[in-house]
Amino acid sequence: MAGTGIETVVVDGLGLARGKRAQMAEEIEKLTADGSRPPCLAVVLVGDDPASASYIKGKRRACKRVGFDSVEHNPPATSSEAEVLALIDQLNRDDGIDGILVQLPLPDAIDPNVVAAAIDPAKDVDGVGPVNAGRLVMGEDGYFACTPLGILEILDHHQIEISGADAVVIGRSMIVGKPISLLLQRRNATVTMCHSRTRDLAEHCRRADILVAATGRPRMIPPDWIKPGAAVIDVGVTEVDGELVGDVDFEGVQGIAGIVTPHRRGVGPMTITMLLHNTLEAWKARSRA
Ligand code: NDP
Repeated sequence: MAGTGIETVVVDGLGLARGKRAQMAEEIEKLTADGSRPPCLAVVLVGDDPASASYIKGKRRACKRVGFDSVEHNPPATSSEAEVLALIDQLNRDDGIDGILVQLPLPDAIDPNVVAAAIDPAKDVDGVGPVNAGRLVMGEDGYFACTPLGILEILDHHQIEISGADAVVIGRSMIVGKPISLLLQRRNATVTMCHSRTRDLAEHCRRADILVAATGRPRMIPPDWIKPGAAVIDVGVTEVDGELVGDVDFEGVQGIAGIVTPHRRGVGPMTITMLLHNTLEAWKARSRA
């Protein structure tokens, strides 16, 4: 936008993620120098959805690069809920497993909330179960959803003042909208949670010092909804005509936003990094137990 004098900083989520992963790799090398086993993440993919398979591959590759082990379980799409729960039970009991991640979406016959509740809270490194969600609400320590944790890392890295800030979150899912709202509130932001029934979304957005968009509605946030200098975190990723697009008009907010995450190499790499972080913390907690 002409005349604002703002030079928007495009967040390098991949660079930030690489830095944190390098630190983790160094830490794990030291911690396993005595021959103890490295952290191990179990990933469960029910069925063969290609997008889910590719996410799982990325997560396992990230584990390997930092020196973690990972194991994959791939029951067929026809599996019953009871069969998936039996697998979760087996992983809960396995002393060689520190974290369990069940890739979503699950086939229609399987209730994701039932599966999430079955994961041992001490291994729930994706922060999807009711115990960790409850800890988040109660202000206690726990394993919290990875995308919101990555967003906080991004804000902190860019020294965005959270305390006292007006934060507006669009979206109220259990994996992004709800947990990031609670985490920002814990850091003393004044948080407004918006969703598809919110009246006058534009007005809410215009007073946001921190705007988190997690709707999956391509480019639904135009430049004139952005407060000059705001930190704009675009979580949304949607494929449109073979191209990935965010919720925010990325080009349009240049010169208005203080910082903005690109829809590629923005929030995504930090999500995986915080999964590794949670797995490392779970491993440390188990080693101490
Ligand atoms: P959900 O579909 O679970 O939630 C979308 C939310 O957006 C809902 O709360 C919905 O409101 C709200 N919403 C939809 N349309 C509008 C609208 N027109 N105005 C205001 N609010 C609206 O999505 P997720 O939270 O799972 O994911 C959101 C996006 O983030 C997706 O594009 C997903 O791919 C991406 N994502 C990216 C990640 C990453 O690491 N980069 C990680 C996780 C997600 P209501 O509740 O009223 O229906």
